[in-house]
Amino acid sequence: MSLPATTPRQYLTTLTNGWRFTLPTSVRKAHGWDAGTKLLATLRGASLLFSTERQSTDRQASTDGNLARDFDGETLEPVECYLGSGGKIVLPVPLRKRLGWIVGKRLVIVDEGDAVAVTLCCDAKRCESCGSISGVREIIQNVFLCSQCWGNYLREMHAKLRLGRARA
Ligand SMILES: [Zn+2]
Repeated sequence: MSLPATTPRQYLTTLTNGWRFTLPTSVRKAHGWDAGTKLLATLRGASLLFSTERQSTDRQASTDGNLARDFDGETLEPVECYLGSGGKIVLPVPLRKRLGWIVGKRLVIVDEGDAVAVTLCCDAKRCESCGSISGVREIIQNVFLCSQCWGNYLREMHAKLRLGRARA
């Protein structure tokens, strides 16, 4: 799978027992984070932002499909947590219920440059056309497409409809 250069780098990880997940090495290296680095976890919509400095939460979360559940604009104070060895982060207790994440589910990690966003990857549906996990939604039952491919899908369907009419 190759993503266009403009797509933020994203990674998949799994929320494991003990509410732990792993930040990929390349993300840690890019930010200079090491075992013991104090991070602030800030809620932004359905995402959790990790950074070493306070993040403004007025940036709009992506409105893409299932990655953008909204919590009525309520905000919580940033919660401190520490990066463990091997990039392990234990999801802070006050945030667990709030986020509604489930142990065993996959998380998508997006390096946004000034912060790292972690979002529950729902069922980690991939776009059936290009394999992207960004902005994927269920267009019709059991058809998952990213917004980019949705347009292509529409054109395809229209072509099929025209074909059907031509045959009739
Ligand atoms: Zn796609």
